[in-house]
Amino acid sequence: MIMLKQIIVAVAILLQVQIGSGYLFAQTGNITRKEMLRGSVTPEREWWDVLHYNLKVEFLPDTKSLRGSNVITFKTLKAGNKMQIDLQPPLAITKVSHGTSQLKFEREENAYWITFEKDLPKGAEDRIEVFYQGIPVESKNPPWVGGITWGRDDLGEHFIVTTCQGIGASIWWPNKDHGADEPDRGMQISVTVPEQLVAVSNGRLKKTDHNIAGKTKTFHWEVLNPINNYGVNVNIGNYVNFAEKYRGKGGVLDLDYWVLAHQKDVAIRQFKEVPRMLEAFEHWFGKYPFYEDSYKLVAVSYPGMEHQSSVTYGNWYRNGYRQRDVSATGIGFKFDFIIVHESGHEWFGNNISMKDSADMWIHEGFTNYSENLFVEYHFGIKKRKIMLLEAATILKMTARLSAFMAQTEKDREICIIRAGICCIRFVMSSMTTQNGSLYCVALIRNSGIRQFRPNRLSRISPGWLALISVRYSTNTCGQQKSRS
Ligand SMILES: [Zn+2]
Repeated sequence: MIMLKQIIVAVAILLQVQIGSGYLFAQTGNITRKEMLRGSVTPEREWWDVLHYNLKVEFLPDTKSLRGSNVITFKTLKAGNKMQIDLQPPLAITKVSHGTSQLKFEREENAYWITFEKDLPKGAEDRIEVFYQGIPVESKNPPWVGGITWGRDDLGEHFIVTTCQGIGASIWWPNKDHGADEPDRGMQISVTVPEQLVAVSNGRLKKTDHNIAGKTKTFHWEVLNPINNYGVNVNIGNYVNFAEKYRGKGGVLDLDYWVLAHQKDVAIRQFKEVPRMLEAFEHWFGKYPFYEDSYKLVAVSYPGMEHQSSVTYGNWYRNGYRQRDVSATGIGFKFDFIIVHESGHEWFGNNISMKDSADMWIHEGFTNYSENLFVEYHFGIKKRKIMLLEAATILKMTARLSAFMAQTEKDREICIIRAGICCIRFVMSSMTTQNGSLYCVALIRNSGIRQFRPNRLSRISPGWLALISVRYSTNTCGQQKSRS
């Protein structure tokens, strides 16, 4: 009976994936130059590796504008003199400095071509500072539509958030906007806001400066781990902070919560979910990946996002997903979907990161699976099996997303077939493993790797790569292989 059920589910997914692919092929045209610049590792991106970003940005709510700069520290992988830096209009780069000189630059679509005075030699460490300003794109529907949301909270105070999954971080700050490269030494994010507001970003708050004459405050945040670009975020509002310590597999983990002042009491009650989530995920996947940067949950005005070490939360302080149980099994109301799902991405999405947005569905597929393991850990394997049918639906949707994000017609086809295979394997292995430990979890544990790192995917065991069936290293979806 169980076997029959597995086959039915597998076939159903395959059929729906293929139907989905036909629909998408009809919807999308040829790749444009703009998409090429955004989605591929161009020669102007390939010759250098980001080591560190130091972003300084001021949010000016009165004019809904930004101004700031990003110091990009990098290492040259070969000699070169032309660099691609991305920033989406209407924001504009105003100056690029390199030591004491200023560099020439020109814009093409969302990319800027920055030219050095002469070739930089291979193997050198260097830095540029990119200055920018302007009125950024506003998001009308965060987090699904990226940009800045210049919102207000229930009490009328500013409540400003950034979201950029999909559209790219260059919607609000200048960077090398491709998943294949992350700042190996992390990032500093200094955010200046009107003095009555608090700005919360990724990592740890190192210090706050108060400019009394200018009536502003600057919050200096620091991330020590590599971080994917879309995981960088800033949230600004009337925040208060509370904290606790979690004794986990990596020692003492700082849990920091940033919520609107008038919602603190309800947040204290609801965020009891966090230690429960950590207990389950550390059991299955090993230690939380970013002990150095702490774990944070930050209240926002949209449902949520997996911003690294700064998971954003807008689930109305209730179990389920915005008062719904998407699994329609009743089990969804046993936990806070956003806390569990978005935090699951700390392992699958932030620690293991896609090199190409065509693989976004892996972030979602594995994280969806992590929800099921959370259920099993706290409520037993029977409940998890019920939830799996919901997992199948979401995996199907993420397979479609994969196809949508792939770069060419042929590559879409390859991606979708692989995605379909992956879905099926997922469902099959989930259903047949009785001890609750899926094959892929066993592989992680047996791989001998203590921790996966972004941009270190080549170190992942061949078994793992075979299981997920995609080309982190085999380069089949229309992108050049990253060298970083
Ligand atoms: Zn997700």
